[in-house]
Amino acid sequence: MTKMNCRQAATDLLGMTREALEELLQNLGEPRYRARQLFAWLHRGTSLDMMTSLPKELRRQLAAIARAGTLQLAYQEAAEDGAVKFGFETADGRLIETVLIPHRNRTTVCVSSQIGCAYGCAFCATGRQGFTRDLTTGEIVEQVIRVQTATRPQRVRNVVFMGMGEPLANFDAVVTAIRLLNSPDGLGIGARHIAVSTCGLPNSIQRLAEEKLQVGLAVSLHAATDEVRNQLVPINRKHPLAEVVNAARRFATMTGRKVAFEYVIVPEVNDTPAQARRLAELVRGMAAMVNLIPLNPADSSLRVDVDSAYRFAALLRKRGVEVMVRRSRGGEVLGACGQLRARHIKKASDERSPVRRSNALDSLGSVSDSPDMTEQKCEGGKGP
Ligand code: SF4
Repeated sequence: MTKMNCRQAATDLLGMTREALEELLQNLGEPRYRARQLFAWLHRGTSLDMMTSLPKELRRQLAAIARAGTLQLAYQEAAEDGAVKFGFETADGRLIETVLIPHRNRTTVCVSSQIGCAYGCAFCATGRQGFTRDLTTGEIVEQVIRVQTATRPQRVRNVVFMGMGEPLANFDAVVTAIRLLNSPDGLGIGARHIAVSTCGLPNSIQRLAEEKLQVGLAVSLHAATDEVRNQLVPINRKHPLAEVVNAARRFATMTGRKVAFEYVIVPEVNDTPAQARRLAELVRGMAAMVNLIPLNPADSSLRVDVDSAYRFAALLRKRGVEVMVRRSRGGEVLGACGQLRARHIKKASDERSPVRRSNALDSLGSVSDSPDMTEQKCEGGKGP
């Protein structure tokens, strides 16, 4: 059996709840308290052979049937602003990305939830790569553990599901991962310090609210009318704005948490006075915050259009909307979801596609050629 197949074949202990570990250990004739010890070691990123409070024989038995994690570090790149992008290879030979975003007094980890994505948003390199598969609970949890290990003694305080993939399309694995990350026996990351970002899946937003997790919700809105949003976020054709915003409104009511609406500014497309008027109407009366993200031009010789974002922010503020202009972090490491992976794949295949367009909306199509493309994901200021 090859090394890769070994990694695939064994049970991943990192994806197991305390209860599941208890059952596993009971079947091996061990007392229940061993599960707590094992869980704590696992979530500290310890390998089975170094779990010294567990009997040697138990460690040997576990090593024969299971693994403590399946990811291998493929690459790591740092930006001047301190953001670090980790590329991990999964057991089946795929690449996923995780971004560490340090702040003055907190550290945020942006995790991936799927390999590729089926939703094809206009800003997103991951969407253009197509969908391969959902990540397992263990693969999601391990991203945080691996970054925590790399960043010690600094503690990871926030986790945002804003990396590759649509987290609400991998609902069960994501929710279980949140519970595991939240466990006081493990990393103990507060639910209020975890945020899930979605392109707008109303039924899943409702389900998330019903989980009573107290996590934050970020919705990639990017337009205030269906006509414009259909072009930027294709799922809008199935779930139009009104449906998405109503689901977000219910989420805010049910959880008592303010919803973040992400809005990448595409000059002269979604930053008009009419769009501002409509956006203000949509969020009226809701506990909500609009995060405006200036669009970086596909042509890196052009200036990032921050002015448009500030102009649009002023229009919204005048109408009573809580709004902030956010700047991306980790631009140097291609902070947007999927972009670094896209570049590594490109390097490997030595592919180039020098697309150059002038229209702002058209330029979204060449995101993977732009190392500094502003993202709606893994954006430093977006952490809860
Ligand atoms: S922005 Fe998110 S939902 Fe949209 S294509 Fe990219 S990964 Fe998928």
